[in-house]
Amino acid sequence: MTSIISPVKGMNDVLPDDELLWERLETAAAELFKAYDYHRIRIPVLEKTELFRRSIGEATDIVEKEMYTFEDRGGDSLTLRPEATAGIVRACLTHGLLHNRQQKLWCSGPMFRREKPQKGRYRQFHQLSVEALGYAEPEVDAELIVMSARLWRALGITHVSLELNSIGTPESRAGYREVLVEYFSAHKDRLDADSLRRLERNPLRILDSKNPDMAELIAGAPVISEYLDEGSRDHFERLKGLLSDAGIPFKINPRLVRGLDYYTRTVFEWVTDRLGAQSAVCAGGRYDGLVAQLGGRDTPAVGWALGVERVVELLRLDQGAAEARAPDVFVVSAGDAARRVGFAAAEKLRDALPGISVSIGAPSAGFKAQFRRADKSGARFALIIGEDEVAAQKFGLKPLRTDEPQLSLSLDEVVRQLSSALERRE
Ligand code: ATP
Ligand code: MG
Repeated sequence: MTSIISPVKGMNDVLPDDELLWERLETAAAELFKAYDYHRIRIPVLEKTELFRRSIGEATDIVEKEMYTFEDRGGDSLTLRPEATAGIVRACLTHGLLHNRQQKLWCSGPMFRREKPQKGRYRQFHQLSVEALGYAEPEVDAELIVMSARLWRALGITHVSLELNSIGTPESRAGYREVLVEYFSAHKDRLDADSLRRLERNPLRILDSKNPDMAELIAGAPVISEYLDEGSRDHFERLKGLLSDAGIPFKINPRLVRGLDYYTRTVFEWVTDRLGAQSAVCAGGRYDGLVAQLGGRDTPAVGWALGVERVVELLRLDQGAAEARAPDVFVVSAGDAARRVGFAAAEKLRDALPGISVSIGAPSAGFKAQFRRADKSGARFALIIGEDEVAAQKFGLKPLRTDEPQLSLSLDEVVRQLSSALERRE
């Protein structure tokens, strides 16, 4: 027997049963982006490896060990995108979208990171993300955060809370970096292997460690807020004021530094206590240096990305499985002539009633079996065509969810009947 080919580890199929939850999130997000005048951009899944090395940073988890990188047949090193920001900035530079212009953009799609697969952590996962390019004002940081809060409200998601920090400019961070290295060097014996490596290359990332054995040492470390430059401090104060005005509670987390190198000033994360270890559902911050780092002019920018699988899981926990989608009409036919009439009638219904969902079922099955399937499908009506109906050019319209009687109608009458029944449903 031929064996079945298994999927790639950590890469999931999203089955139709889950579709309604995904759709609920995607629809709410699209409405949200419109309400704030953000425009959609679509970028390739593959980019040159150099793009991610230069933007995300060499000494980050993503670049060090999570990228899917390969040489293509022409010898170029390409990488499946681990996140969208770098590609979006690259696209803006490619097309001159930042020449004396600002951009508010959103993007959606799969990302790829070779992490250890577990619940809420996959090798192909999906993000919805927003980027505001060319904006330095704290109002735009605030706008992005109130947007995410509005999305939770629209989706009925509770149990998420906002953590906020400012990591200042690269210059002010350099001062902090020194005292941090001094502190951790004095406690070298208590550092795990990952942290020892980070001590040399990227000491701020030690603060991001998820090893519980490191928690106490990290809790005693100096905090970045004391080393912020004047401008960053003022920016952060204004942002906090705007969030308070908007009624959005937040917690300052001085140890929040985020795993990518390009962040400056504002960083934030929405976390939940309902998804176990994979607690971050949406994260972002300001990246004022990135555009220049990728060859553009100095352009301040800020953005966030939301983990679709994790948010879908919250929707499932809060609201239970979504109802399965059911067709409006299920065609049931008896005999060859009726099959042909049924197929044509289904097309006519779709022509006449935009938005209707019609299933032709399995026309080769027996009459009774077709009825059973119609019932099981959850359809509201069966459209029945037997030999008598073909002869009389009539259709049986049988309500499947109520005790109302079956009607015998012309196709035009079926359309009228369904039209008013579907209107009542809206
Ligand atoms: P984590 O700390 O969980 O590894 P991260 O800081 O690496 O997250 P970001 O790069 O900020 O994540 O990506 C934004 C969001 O994308 C995260 O908050 C999370 O919801 C989601 N995400 C990140 N990596 C994965 C993954 N491997 N599988 C599923 N979702 C993910
Ligand atoms: Mg990660």
